[in-house]
Amino acid sequence: MYNFFVDGSARTDNGFIIDGKDYNHICNVLRMQVGDTFLVSCEGMSSLCRLAQVHKESVVAEIVEENYRNTELPVRFYLFQGLPKGDKMELIIQKTVELGVAGIIPVEMSRCIMKLDEKKKKTRKERWQSIAESAAKQSKRNVVPEVCDVLTYKQAIEKAAEMDVFLLPYENELGMAETKRALSRIKEGMSVGILVGPEGGFDNKEVELAREIGAFVISLGNRILRAETAAITAVAMGMLHVEMNMEGDE
Ligand code: SAM
Repeated sequence: MYNFFVDGSARTDNGFIIDGKDYNHICNVLRMQVGDTFLVSCEGMSSLCRLAQVHKESVVAEIVEENYRNTELPVRFYLFQGLPKGDKMELIIQKTVELGVAGIIPVEMSRCIMKLDEKKKKTRKERWQSIAESAAKQSKRNVVPEVCDVLTYKQAIEKAAEMDVFLLPYENELGMAETKRALSRIKEGMSVGILVGPEGGFDNKEVELAREIGAFVISLGNRILRAETAAITAVAMGMLHVEMNMEGDE
């Protein structure tokens, strides 16, 4: 079923007014007819809606069932990602949004090969946000995770340290004891920061700075994973831990 994201200003007493590019998608691309149903996600909640009226520049969607399906995790995972080369960030965003990440923060690290000037940071951010939106639609998320501005390493670890749990998957960490200990600290309603390095990995000093401010330095297993595999694995590990141990587990 198609899913459209709107902000609170689109809300009416019993539905939503949809305009702009989603209006074009509904009328001219999908050629929906009055009576067709779709999902509308607004402020973290999805409603099953039917197309009630079609106007010249907008459509009226009438709510059939509110709070139709909550697909959001009861824990907010934020991926802090050392900027990888080429278009790998796009894959990381697409896959981790599907897995349920709450937000993505690109990070400049000492071993990043990719360097972005201010203009590129802005254009990349727009592209990354549109990838997050497509992935959120495809995976029937209730919210579109935000792709934030690129942060320096210092800014990133300070922000990650504000979270309830801060995980740092490190390629040189051995054994899974710390990984298990860190996962056991994650409880419903918490925020969790996950900081993954770029292709070149972490500089030792970066790891020690993060450890000093409370990061759990963890292993993702005995093999060295590519940056994109590590990001997807770390978020999948968190997501499955939460899905298997919290709310609605049967
Ligand atoms: N250049 C590094 C090397 O050869 O050892 C590998 C860096 S790896 C490609 C990129 C990032 O993925 C790492 O900085 C780390 O965050 C994560 N990573 C990869 N394998 C991992 C593992 N087995 N355990 C924990 N983190 C891992």
